[in-house]
Amino acid sequence: MAAYKRVLLKISGESLGGNAGKGLDTACLAAVAKEIADAAKAGLQIGLVNGGGNIFRGLQGVDKGFDRVDGDRMGMLATVINALALKMFIKAEGVPAEVFTSTPMEPVAPYYMRDKVVRLLEKGGVAILAGGTGHPFFTTDSGAALRALEIGADALLKGTRVDGVYTADPEKDPSAVRYEELTFDKALADNLKVMDRTAFALCEQGNIPIVVFNMTVPGNLTRLLEGKAIGTVVHK
Ligand code: UDP
Repeated sequence: MAAYKRVLLKISGESLGGNAGKGLDTACLAAVAKEIADAAKAGLQIGLVNGGGNIFRGLQGVDKGFDRVDGDRMGMLATVINALALKMFIKAEGVPAEVFTSTPMEPVAPYYMRDKVVRLLEKGGVAILAGGTGHPFFTTDSGAALRALEIGADALLKGTRVDGVYTADPEKDPSAVRYEELTFDKALADNLKVMDRTAFALCEQGNIPIVVFNMTVPGNLTRLLEGKAIGTVVHK
């Protein structure tokens, strides 16, 4: 497997919310921040996109009478809350970190600007890219793919609770087998859930490999920097 120098790491909001995947759990934040800080200290340039599902998702409000657009805005704001928390915990590990938001929100955090983000990455800092794409009807997976293209990432890393892409859902089907690698075409043909369709299409068109890996195993992020075969790589 190729060793990556600059990556876009996508983590879900649920990964910050403890066992229930809700709200913010300080032990989860500390563990995720340590993984990221350790990899940054080892030389990996990390753009980070986090989700907001531990707080709110626009779609979940629709059947309760919420307007979808306002609900999505609430979801995007939730990602900013998570991003600010991640910034604090990453800085506590001794690594510079800054949040950039996809819609202007000063003084909460500076407005996203690609060149500023790249400068921070080159100096060894972690850039947390919050607020998704800034538009409703998208997800943070799509935001992650978009930012991966913009910052010239070598790969989009999707940190999850499972160690890759399987032939079937490994939590439901014990005979499911993990792929070490597969092509975009095969993932589409077999309807394998890697990322949402928009994110997937952006990565395929931009020829950015997607690496699905288990973020809960300590050291996995740094192993990817070293070029070790972790998780599943989806490529052209
Ligand atoms: N969202 C949005 N546009 C974006 C990114 C996110 O409207 O570009 C909203 C959407 O409501 C989404 C929520 O923010 O459900 C939280 O993001 P996501 O569901 O991707 O978070 P995750 O599942 O990764 O925690």
